[in-house]
This record gives sequence, C-alpha cells and structure tokens, in this order.
Amino acid sequence: MIVGVLGAGQLARMIALAGYPLGVDFIFLDPSADACANSLGAHLHGDYDDPRLLAQLAERADVVTYEFENVPAGVAEFLASHTQVHPAPKALAVAQDRLIEKAFFHGLDIPVSPYAAVASFEGLEQAMSIIGWPAILKSCTMGYDGKGQSLLKSVDDLKPAWEQLAGVQGVVEAFVPFDREVSIIAARNVSGATVFYPLSQNLHRGGILRVSESCDNDPMQQQAEAYILRLMEALDYVGVLALELFEIDGKLIANEFAPRVHNSGHWTIEGAETSQFENHLRAILDLPLGATTAVGKSAMVNFIGGLPATEELLAIPHAHLHLYDKAPRKGRKVAHATVRAETTGQLDALIKQLIALADKVDDS
Ligand code: AMP
Repeated sequence: MIVGVLGAGQLARMIALAGYPLGVDFIFLDPSADACANSLGAHLHGDYDDPRLLAQLAERADVVTYEFENVPAGVAEFLASHTQVHPAPKALAVAQDRLIEKAFFHGLDIPVSPYAAVASFEGLEQAMSIIGWPAILKSCTMGYDGKGQSLLKSVDDLKPAWEQLAGVQGVVEAFVPFDREVSIIAARNVSGATVFYPLSQNLHRGGILRVSESCDNDPMQQQAEAYILRLMEALDYVGVLALELFEIDGKLIANEFAPRVHNSGHWTIEGAETSQFENHLRAILDLPLGATTAVGKSAMVNFIGGLPATEELLAIPHAHLHLYDKAPRKGRKVAHATVRAETTGQLDALIKQLIALADKVDDS
C-alpha cells in the first residue's frame, strides 16, 4: 500500500514513521529539496500545482492525504478526480478561508467569536464600531502560527494592522479573554467509525504553540466531542481532524480547525494507546481505528528556533525526543519532546524542566 502525502515536513515525517509498522510506503510531493520527510519515502520535487508531478502522485499512490491545508484548492480537486483523496477537498476549501470557516461553524451551531469581513481601511473602522475593543485582525487565507495577525487595542493600532494585511481580504474578530485554550482531535475512517482523543490543553506564545498537555476526564470533553462530530459529519470527513477552541466561563468557542494531524496531538505518540498519526493512516486506509485511551498523563513541549542538547534532554526522566531533521531558523519548529507521568505534580515538574531547555534555545 502506498500513501501519497502533499508536503514533506515534520507532520508527514511522523505519519511515515507510524506507517512503516503497518506495511505502508510513502511518496511525498514537496517544493523543498531538503524537506524533512524526504528520507522516509520517494520524493517528487516541485510545486504543489505542477501537473506532471500531480499526475505521477495520483498514478503511484493508492490514496493521497496532506500534511497542511494551504495547498492550492484545485490541486486536491485534480487529485480527487484521479485517485482517492482523504480528507476530501471540501475540508481544505473550508479550512483555507477564515470567513468560510466561521460561516461553516455558525451553520453547525458551533459558537464563534463575533467577526466581520474587512476589505478596506474604512471597512475596518466601521467593523470596529460593531465588534468593539480589543479585537484581532487576521488575513483570511494563508495564516498559521499567528502569521498575518494584529492585535487591535486602540485606534492607533488600526493603520499599522491594515498596512500589514497588504491589501488581502481580512477578518476582524473580537478578542476572547479565554480561561484556557484547548483542542480536540478525532479520527473518522472511510466506513464512518469515529474515535476522539482526550482534550489537549494548549499554551501559545506569539501565536505559536509552546506546550500541550493531555486532559483526564475534562469537563469540556463532551462538548468538544459534540462539536467535532458535527464538523466531521457535515464534511463527510475521513482522517484525523483537529478543532482549536477557547474556553471561557465554562463554554467553548471555536477558533479554527485543521484538516490534518495537529501539533497539539504530538503527545499521543507516547501518551495514547494509538497515536494520531497511526489513526490518521488507519482512517484513510479504512482500517479499524485504534483506541485513543491516554497512557498516564502526558505533555509535549515544542523546540522553536533552536535544538536542545540531546544528552541534556534525555537525562530528564520519562522524556522522549523527536528531532525533525530541520535546520534551526528563527521561529521554526525543529523538534518536540514528550514527558509522561502518573500524577499531575510529577508531570508539572517534568514540564518545567522541558520548558527550561526550550527557553534556552528559543529565539522568538
Ligand atoms: P490562530 O492562527 O487563529 O490559531 O491564532 C493563533 C493564536 O492567537 C491562538 O491560539 C490564540 O492564542 C490567539 N488568538 C487568535 N484569535 C484569538 C481571539 N479571537 N481571541 C484571543 N486570542 C486569539
């Protein structure tokens, strides 16, 4: 069985690492000559919309999936007309545009923060009189890890924020003074069987995920499962899906969803009976899904911009290191580490040690 993946970054790499024990081989399409999954499968080197490479991918792969949502819309459509593509192009189209995504949430009765489309500076001023302060201006497309976003605290912030948007379609949304950020990850296979992971509690800095922790019997679990199930059914979704949420006053507000495996689920490699990566493959290959039960309490810390010293990291009890084989660069995720413990107290102490190492090399 050969799985084709659009993108050959760390997510594709971890999908491949989960696939080999199941006898799956991989072919990646990625424009970067030194993409970090390349050593784990065949590499088609070129642009995502290169028709010759797409035809090769469709020909060689039994099923195609992707590791990020910003591939040109027509690409997934083209592939879907030649081979199996999971998740379906519709999920990509919705996730790629924040306005379409928010309207989609709204249509499914999944709460979102008040928002307005913004296409001009005057439009932004008008929208702010309705949305109120503070707010966040985001580009509608191509935004990830907080890129293309500006916090609006006063009228003085409007001009620079508008200029940063550089003429692309924007969306302004009310700032949510959340109690915490959580995400739910679920998998649905071709036959419609569905499994949910325990919630992840997430800490971001500068719009980039820093720490994710698994949550035992979280009071928000049921609500989050109901929302992601609604999404998966509406999209006739196949694969792993991640839904990012804000919790405020005991209620959940949707931020965005990612039609792929997700950074906040990396702890599942050591911390769940079946990892999100393996379940993504099981889902798209229509195999029975694996149990998502947590194994102890887990947390994951990202290394951004710089690598930890391997010996120092592995000296932390119960720590597992995942290097992505990527050259360190400012703001770039180059590795993560997971720790597992029996009690919250033990876990907190281990997380502190990991964060201390991450902060030493973090250049952002
Ligand atoms: P995003 O790219 O939309 O996932 O945003 C990145 C991060 O910015 C989120 O994980 C939050 O920490 C923060 N953020 C985004 N939108 C909002 C909002 N409306 N209110 C408060 N914080 C937000």
